Amino acid sequence: MAVSFESARALILECVDTLSQEAVSLLDVVGRVLAEDIRAPWDMPRWDNSAMDGFAVRAEDCVSGQPLTVDGYIPAGRSASGVTVRSGTAVRIMTGAPAPVGCDAIVPIEETEEDEGKIIINGEVRKGDHLRVRGEDFQQEELVIAAGTILRPAEINMLASFGYQTVSVFRQPKVAILSTGDELVEPGEEIGPGQIINSNDYSLAAAVREVGGEPLLLGIARDDRKSLTEKITEGLKADVLITTAGVSMGDLDLVCEVLQSLGVERQFWKVAIKPGRPTAFGLKNGKPIFSLPGNPVSSMITFEEFVRPALLKMMGHQSVIKPFVKATMKESVNKKPGRVQFLRVRVLADGEQLFATSSGDQNTGILRTLLRANGIAVLPVDQEQVHAGEDVNVHLIAAVEKL
Ligand code: AMP
Ligand code: MG
Repeated sequence: MAVSFESARALILECVDTLSQEAVSLLDVVGRVLAEDIRAPWDMPRWDNSAMDGFAVRAEDCVSGQPLTVDGYIPAGRSASGVTVRSGTAVRIMTGAPAPVGCDAIVPIEETEEDEGKIIINGEVRKGDHLRVRGEDFQQEELVIAAGTILRPAEINMLASFGYQTVSVFRQPKVAILSTGDELVEPGEEIGPGQIINSNDYSLAAAVREVGGEPLLLGIARDDRKSLTEKITEGLKADVLITTAGVSMGDLDLVCEVLQSLGVERQFWKVAIKPGRPTAFGLKNGKPIFSLPGNPVSSMITFEEFVRPALLKMMGHQSVIKPFVKATMKESVNKKPGRVQFLRVRVLADGEQLFATSSGDQNTGILRTLLRANGIAVLPVDQEQVHAGEDVNVHLIAAVEKL
């Protein structure tokens, strides 16, 4: 019996766990998921400072047209110790420089006129103007970035400004990829009668890399127990093993049998989906093994819907299932009930609204239809026909274009 799409995916996500943590240089950490809470080691900013190039003053001294004597200078990078703004004076100060004792406002240079050691201020000055106050951004010990956050340039700036050089993030999985089949040759090899090129290794390696994992190509296992046993044994050393082909009902579809003989506990085999029905999933000592169908279209779609969320979870991501976008079908599509159908679609935007059309012949042998697709419409199991004008749920796999 085939399991449902939703329960298959839920089971996979229950079975996989986040990997261990590693310290990574801030230069290499973009897109990774933080594994520790970051608390402010000190107040940010560390001291009151000027937000403008100008003059540190006492706001009460600033009467329009009345001159203040310029007494002192604090450039950025200099200490303000020993400098005081006394009544009737102003201290020249640069952006970021520490605010001197006595001042309660900064007057930007462009709001002053300077003549012979004195300034005249044009306009009103209020307490606190253009002053950055110690701790106004973060206070010492405050939570700055929570574990589980994806590190973007903004987080990385924050970490650097708190003095971090490395930070603890979740490891990225090494994903072994094994193609199986007597008919396969590698790209560049001579192609004999009945042979086809192993292309799945390349699409899956690319897909793994796109998600953030590290692909390890095991090459081709032949459709015999010995070859499969050797290669699968090798693959089980990685964090994840993906096999393609050899899981259907053919005479030489031995992948499931060999996995079982190597102690892999099958969690499911066959899912009520189209394409991708023969997909199997198992565990060996908690390690996930995905057996995807051999057909390139099926293996890419099942990667997207099953493997990608699992890899994201292993890397510490909290949101692992792509949110759907709603698109209105521009044409009717026939569908048999009993399976979730992954319809390759082209999604186009007309203003705020999204429209979808089939991206071509939905036969799984047709790669062109995936080349043209920027979305996978997930049609519910019971649906029989999608009528033109009906909304469908789409997982975007590339950017939406304008209608
Ligand atoms: P199977 O699941 O072994 O019946 O394979 C299904 C289809 O996918 C067959 O047409 C295979 O030739 C094709 N196929 C299997 N493995 C690969 C691969 N690594 N690259 C491209 N096509 C493949
Ligand atoms: Mg085969």
